[in-house]
Amino acid sequence: MSTAADAVTDALRELHARFAGLRDGLVADYIPQLALTDPDAFGLALISMDGHRYSAGDAAAPFTLQSVSKPFVYALALSALGLDEVCRWVNAEPSGEAYNAVSLEPGTGRPDNAMVNAGAIITTALIPDTPDAPRFDRILDGLSRFAGRRLDVDEQVYASEAATGDRNRALAYLLRSTGPLPVDPVAAIDTYFAQCAVRVTALDLAAMAATLAHGGVNPLTGDAVVPEPVAAQVLAVMATCGMYDASGDWLLRVGLPAKSGVSGGLIAAGPARFGLAAYSPRLDPTGTSVRGRAALGALSERLGLHLMHNP
Ligand code: GLU
Repeated sequence: MSTAADAVTDALRELHARFAGLRDGLVADYIPQLALTDPDAFGLALISMDGHRYSAGDAAAPFTLQSVSKPFVYALALSALGLDEVCRWVNAEPSGEAYNAVSLEPGTGRPDNAMVNAGAIITTALIPDTPDAPRFDRILDGLSRFAGRRLDVDEQVYASEAATGDRNRALAYLLRSTGPLPVDPVAAIDTYFAQCAVRVTALDLAAMAATLAHGGVNPLTGDAVVPEPVAAQVLAVMATCGMYDASGDWLLRVGLPAKSGVSGGLIAAGPARFGLAAYSPRLDPTGTSVRGRAALGALSERLGLHLMHNP
């Protein structure tokens, strides 16, 4: 007798086979160390609310979080400060612009949202920094709890971005120059680079997405990482802003809150249902994994995952 679990396993395997031949897109090279990645790595993973893990291909291959870190650090900031305080410093409007756009709200100087780099740098800066719990320790602890295992930093990728990340450093200076911030984004920029260089696998990403889908409770460990309202707030911002200038098209076609990263990681969450992840480093012009987008889109269609769908 075939079960729902078999259907998920079959779907992941079939979509992996279907899209493994896609060779469109380019591996990111503006962070030099990322250019050394195997362009053909391809993994898919899904974790359900009861902690079942499904995967296909290179789901255990390591890569760095990059912008997939942003919703999780946003969750940590919301947990520490609350929605209203965080919104004073970072808006929650889709920007319709690229991830690294130099664009701040006229008047307030706020970045549009926490998914674009400017907003993510402020979000990192909002994480408390105390002698007993330095900012980056809090972030690494939080990311690890989302993943359900202790994560670490890829020091080579960190050093590579720290050496070349002038545009992000310039954004941090711009942020400091535009408004009365409670924190110093220039002091936080290296922490931002380090959070982007945290090493994960597609299975880790699926666990992280599943934790957001599960009201902030990691379905593998039972750890309540963030409060339920925070998980819902993060999913809302992922739905409207997670795919940068492709967010509207993604929500239209795939119908799930999602976040992409330039190392080729991609997550999507089905609230109260599953966390989903893909890893494949060839990117489209918006900085999204080509195979990841194709596979998650096809999976959503095949299993009827679109949130606006009335089955
Ligand atoms: N570390 C990258 C940057 O700030 C992340 C960008 C992304 O993954 O979209 O440029």
